[in-house]
Amino acid sequence: MARRAEAWYTACMKLTILSDNNTLIDQYLLGEPGFSCLVEAEGKRFLLDTGYFGIFAQNADALGLRWRDVDGVILSHCHDDHTRGLSAFFTEGPKPQLVAHPSLFRRLWSRGLSIGCPYTRAKLARYFDLCLTAEPLALTENLFYLGAIPRVFPEQADQAQRQGEDGPDLTLDDTALAYRGREGVYVITGCSHSGIGNIVERAKQVTGMDRVLGVIGGFHVRQMDERSQGIIDYLEGEHIPNLYPCHCTALSVKVAMGNRMHIEEVGTGTGLEWV
Ligand SMILES: [Zn+2]
Ligand SMILES: [Zn+2]
Repeated sequence: MARRAEAWYTACMKLTILSDNNTLIDQYLLGEPGFSCLVEAEGKRFLLDTGYFGIFAQNADALGLRWRDVDGVILSHCHDDHTRGLSAFFTEGPKPQLVAHPSLFRRLWSRGLSIGCPYTRAKLARYFDLCLTAEPLALTENLFYLGAIPRVFPEQADQAQRQGEDGPDLTLDDTALAYRGREGVYVITGCSHSGIGNIVERAKQVTGMDRVLGVIGGFHVRQMDERSQGIIDYLEGEHIPNLYPCHCTALSVKVAMGNRMHIEEVGTGTGLEWV
């Protein structure tokens, strides 16, 4: 038990943003309208999302980070700005686990464009061990895939009308990762179509911790409106000390957030260590 306690206190999670809409001055990395993040915890390495053009691999190579032999690739949802980059793994080599929601392969459109995962189940099964689940999953002792997110604050969920084969598609596959730190929870999210407050509440539930110490990722707020205002009110009420909105978070929303709470800039190459 003593050894276990020691491991707990020295545990930490490292993350590196490998794809984002933003690039940072003096960091000669690529950006794109997409998201990908390398997460290292308790001796294991996972890639959350793969962006659109596969630049996550070039950025990882430039940073000297190994990506081809990750223990798992986790998809936050099916949209192609998070899944098209999976093609970087379409070579002979290690076959990592691919964790995603069972509805990953459904077809959907936005403004006439197909925006779902561009690869078939058979294609991905050649290069990954597929683990398709809507349930939470412990990736390590303290790192969790959250599975389907209950929408306890329905007003925070993205209401954009995307078209699926059977009617409007509400991105019910949207999910995120949560890390159980020493004194609170950290959340790494892709697009937060399910609503960042809903994701944070699910992260608390799955990790069994109430205090939220950090959130990084896209908050899917594209302009200031009633929904964005509600999300900002929620985040302010949570008193989260480390807030890193990026990807699909509009500048106007970041400005409004920054007037109410401390937020940090994010770009490809952003690296954080959270205990
Ligand atoms: Zn999306
Ligand atoms: Zn996105």
